[in-house]
Amino acid sequence: MPGTTVKTEAIVLRSIRYGEADRILHLYSRDRGRLGAIAKGARKPKSRFGGRLEPFFRLDLVLHEGRSDLLTVTSATTVDGYPRLRSSGPALTAGARACDAFLRLLDAAEPNPPAYNLLCRYLALLDDPAAQERAPGLETALAFRLKLALVAGFAPELASCTNCGEAEHLVGFSGSAGGVVCASCEASSFELTEAAHGFMVAALAKPLSEAPEADPLALRQVERAVGETLEHHAHVQLRAAA
Ligand SMILES: [Zn+2]
Repeated sequence: MPGTTVKTEAIVLRSIRYGEADRILHLYSRDRGRLGAIAKGARKPKSRFGGRLEPFFRLDLVLHEGRSDLLTVTSATTVDGYPRLRSSGPALTAGARACDAFLRLLDAAEPNPPAYNLLCRYLALLDDPAAQERAPGLETALAFRLKLALVAGFAPELASCTNCGEAEHLVGFSGSAGGVVCASCEASSFELTEAAHGFMVAALAKPLSEAPEADPLALRQVERAVGETLEHHAHVQLRAAA
């Protein structure tokens, strides 16, 4: 059978039952970005894949690439199964939202190491009980979403007015312009508090594990800012962050 062997690390974003005993996997891989693969016989009781072809598993994969769009999984070993993430309701929801956002926003079959590393770091944080206690879930989820917009090429402009370049009096956010706007350009924008603006700047500058805190109004504005930016520029609608 013609074809080549592909070795890569990947995260399972979605795992779908297929046919009698197979699984189709939506993967985000370190070396090739988005991949689709089929794991034949994965649902047989004695499958060599065991239970590791489930969402959130970080795997070392050997895949066969033939003529089909789907690669065939030859072998899969676990790099990390994030077992504590799986036993916590809020962490499971947050992980599912993250995978869903990747499915919608990052569909290119090309390597994007910052995107891959971001997803691995977020799943590791959700798997870490100490990190869960330190950082509020919504702040971390929104910091993840801002960094996701950045690695997907849709980071909002935060330094100066998107419309005229003014660096002061940045009082609004325009999703269609993709960034902050000043008082005289605010017609098509919504109000952005200093706290919301500060959160976005700090969340992008700091590691995901140090997501800054902010009040509920600011967080709602941040979610709206990222959401409207991605709607206008990536043509993608994300589900609620938390
Ligand atoms: Zn302006």
